[in-house]
Amino acid sequence: MRYYERETEAILKLIAQHDTFMVTAHVSADGDAYGAALATAYMLKKLGKRAEVILSDDEIDEKYQSLAGWEEIKSWSADLNRQFDAAIAVDVSSKKRIGDASVLLPEPDRCVMIDHHPKEEQFADTIMHDTTASSASRMVFELVEASGIELDADLATLILTGIMFDTGRFAFSNTSARDFEIAGKLIEAGARPEKVSEFMMFNIPLLSLKTIGYGLADLETKLDGKVGLIFLPKEHIEVDEPLDIDPLASYSLSPKGAEVGVFIRETSELFKISLRSKGLVDVSTIAREIGGGGHKQAAGCRFEGEYHVLLERLLELIQLQLTDSRSA
Ligand code: 5GP
Ligand code: MN
Repeated sequence: MRYYERETEAILKLIAQHDTFMVTAHVSADGDAYGAALATAYMLKKLGKRAEVILSDDEIDEKYQSLAGWEEIKSWSADLNRQFDAAIAVDVSSKKRIGDASVLLPEPDRCVMIDHHPKEEQFADTIMHDTTASSASRMVFELVEASGIELDADLATLILTGIMFDTGRFAFSNTSARDFEIAGKLIEAGARPEKVSEFMMFNIPLLSLKTIGYGLADLETKLDGKVGLIFLPKEHIEVDEPLDIDPLASYSLSPKGAEVGVFIRETSELFKISLRSKGLVDVSTIAREIGGGGHKQAAGCRFEGEYHVLLERLLELIQLQLTDSRSA
């Protein structure tokens, strides 16, 4: 069986018609964004094209430095003078989520979007969109397979990184039989799951781990234990180096009996909220109410204002869904 046959054909046709490509992904790029973007650039180069990965993030995450092409990733800046024939945006479904780098995108008829988030905005005419796909990297795999290029160990590692990141190493409900099938092919091609686990999960700077400790020490539950809440005030995170504290999002969902996890980090300008669900509550609708987005079981948003206002709003939205689910 061929996956996304029509979509992959249209994308490969567009690729054939152009020479230079910008590849981009969402702001605050994660394992899937890095895996999918780098795999796309890798494939384009194998197809004889020029490709550059440009992200809006000021810092390119060093955790991913062993990945092929990582050192060539560019951070967008106003003086980055670039023009591309075409662009491929992965793991992102709006210009807003691409961030500043979106100014470099050509017209929609020369843009491709490959994504698994709920659709937000049409900035590309050629799209591969599937909210049931575990990861954008899994979708890029189907494109790689359709392109006929050889799957070598570097390319396989890129794709495995994205799939492992977004499936929580094959543990979340978005994991499908196809993900395991693909993982099998990736391992055959030379990718190693333990290596990916090691650089992605067990490679956290000491200061980040200690900050995770502060968050855990303050973990509390709300709404009769249905909500796990971690609030990390800026005093604990305002340091010179970027902190790797994303695991706090999963920890917020870990208390026994919790249906929803809320992890709020304070920065000097705003609050960044990560929402997680065990499945009963659709946290993407809650995030969208506050101007964010994401998936049913993992979503996020930003908020400017007072902490107690934010918390009351979040708990109210969660309570509404919990009540609905009880009466359903
Ligand atoms: P995380 O909590 O790991 O930052 O994000 C979880 C999911 O929610 C990811 O799929 C991410 O793309 C999405 N997400 C997080 N923050 C935002 C946001 O501010 N806006 C939108 N649209 N999506 C977000
Ligand atoms: Mn993703």
